[in-house]
Amino acid sequence: MQYWIETLGCPKNHVDSDKLAGLLESQGYAAATSAEAADLVVANTCAFIEAAREESIETVLELAERKQDGARLVVTGCMAERYGEELANALPEVDLVAGFGESLIQSTPVSLRSRPVSSFDLLNLPRPVTSTPWAYVKIAEGCDRRCGFCAIPTFRGDQRSRSTEEILLEARSLVGGGVRELVLIAQDLASWGHDRRRAGRGEAVEVLDEGGTQPLIELTKTLSREVDRVRLLYLYPSGLTEGLIETILESGVPYFDLSLQHASRPMLRAMRRWGDGARFLERIATIRQAEPDATFRSSFILGYPGETEDDQRELLNFLEEAQLDWAGFFTFSSEEGTFANDLGEQVPHELALERMREVSELQDAITARRRDALVGSRQELLIDSPGVGRSVRECPEIDGIVMVDSSLAVGTLVDCEIVASHGTDLEAVRV
Ligand code: SF4
Repeated sequence: MQYWIETLGCPKNHVDSDKLAGLLESQGYAAATSAEAADLVVANTCAFIEAAREESIETVLELAERKQDGARLVVTGCMAERYGEELANALPEVDLVAGFGESLIQSTPVSLRSRPVSSFDLLNLPRPVTSTPWAYVKIAEGCDRRCGFCAIPTFRGDQRSRSTEEILLEARSLVGGGVRELVLIAQDLASWGHDRRRAGRGEAVEVLDEGGTQPLIELTKTLSREVDRVRLLYLYPSGLTEGLIETILESGVPYFDLSLQHASRPMLRAMRRWGDGARFLERIATIRQAEPDATFRSSFILGYPGETEDDQRELLNFLEEAQLDWAGFFTFSSEEGTFANDLGEQVPHELALERMREVSELQDAITARRRDALVGSRQELLIDSPGVGRSVRECPEIDGIVMVDSSLAVGTLVDCEIVASHGTDLEAVRV
């Protein structure tokens, strides 16, 4: 029996697909070379915003056309979780619509496993060997915050952190399979471990720093002893404590992915989030003082209800001053069940798009300038695939790449000199 999984959406979804693949393989399934050849076709969907939902539906319909007669089509992931019944009614070509973990495992008509597995256990399942020298590791599921625009907690629930022991086990197996960079992800990474501590489950082995400091600090230190690179994604800005900054700098991957969303204080309050542009700039300056080569990434929402021209100007000024290396911009999408869904003063979509174009144009020029400035510098590159490497400044799949000679062995760390820059990408030669 063969399976095919089509994954949409964010890195967190890709980890879920890996886990599902691991589970299917432990049940005797083998990976198919295409959807057409599979007996079980799974669409792991994304429900983040309207555009993602449309893409998910299109993918499901396309898979329904491509699959062979008799093959089963299962829809899982965020859309299944959020709109399960509606989806099942609207898509008769689908055999099963099932949320994460338990429901999928229990009710998949191919009897995947006799013992039910909860959605949290899905995180702890083994995964197949990766084909790249880096891998995402999802260290928690769900989120305890309630940001105004975000529906994630409504269908993924409150945060449930994995234990250090489980994460270490997965990390060691990935490293044993040739992985040299671990990319830690969660909805709110900086809060990892707090729920375990609250629930009184913080035994020394699980939350290593019993002294009351941030659990993520100890986890990062522990993992840094196991692997060449540990990269942290999605840091809520108030979670970027002095201790965590120090730990990230000491880890040798001075890469700060800060989830900022806006720079205007009124906007951030309306989003029910912490901070403002001045505080963010202060933190960035402190980090740069300690490590001038630190890399910064963030993402921002344009057109949140009530956003004015003043707010937009504030964001533009912030971007100009912050000189981030990388930034992603998204227009606001009103999501059912969120605080922002009921807010008045909706910004017309065209205006939000116009604002997004304006900030993107500014940031593209900043990114290109910062990439140009690297020409002539020496960087240690991890060779991801033939002809493609990355220094600590580039996060896999999200940032630019560094083009290298295709003879450099995949999975090796190589000292290189940057010889040219092409927008977001760089070119390097071995030294
Ligand atoms: S911290 Fe992230 S996942 Fe949690 S509610 Fe806010 S935006 Fe959503």
